Amino acid sequence: MDCLFCKIANGDIPAKIVYQDEIAVIFDDINPQAPHHKVIIPRKHIATLNEALEEDRHLLGHLALSAAKLAKELNIANEGYRVVMNCNAGAGQSVFHIHFHLLGGRRMGWPPG
Ligand code: AMP
Ligand code: ZN
Repeated sequence: MDCLFCKIANGDIPAKIVYQDEIAVIFDDINPQAPHHKVIIPRKHIATLNEALEEDRHLLGHLALSAAKLAKELNIANEGYRVVMNCNAGAGQSVFHIHFHLLGGRRMGWPPG
């Protein structure tokens, strides 16, 4: 499958991987929008959140808990951070393999653009 994030998960395309396990891979975003900007993906290819299935419940929870664990390790858990998933182009999704963004290290505005 011609998917950038599948290729990163498989090691076919290099990325600065900061954590990986049997379900998830986390790496530095190539175009960081904050001092800390990590991309959290499942190894399983799911194009958008709309395609997630009931059987992906554990996978999605694992991604969220991995974000919180990494935020603690990065020492941004107390000051605050943002975990966001864009779904489809109208919301800003550009890579069609689901991912959470973990953003931190600066003040976040709300509402997002
Ligand atoms: P989204 O626009 O929500 O789909 O997020 C895709 C993210 O992937 C963007 O923040 C990009 O900067 C990031 N990105 C694209 N290509 C790469 C890459 N090769 N390595 C790391 N991050 C990437
Ligand atoms: Zn993929």
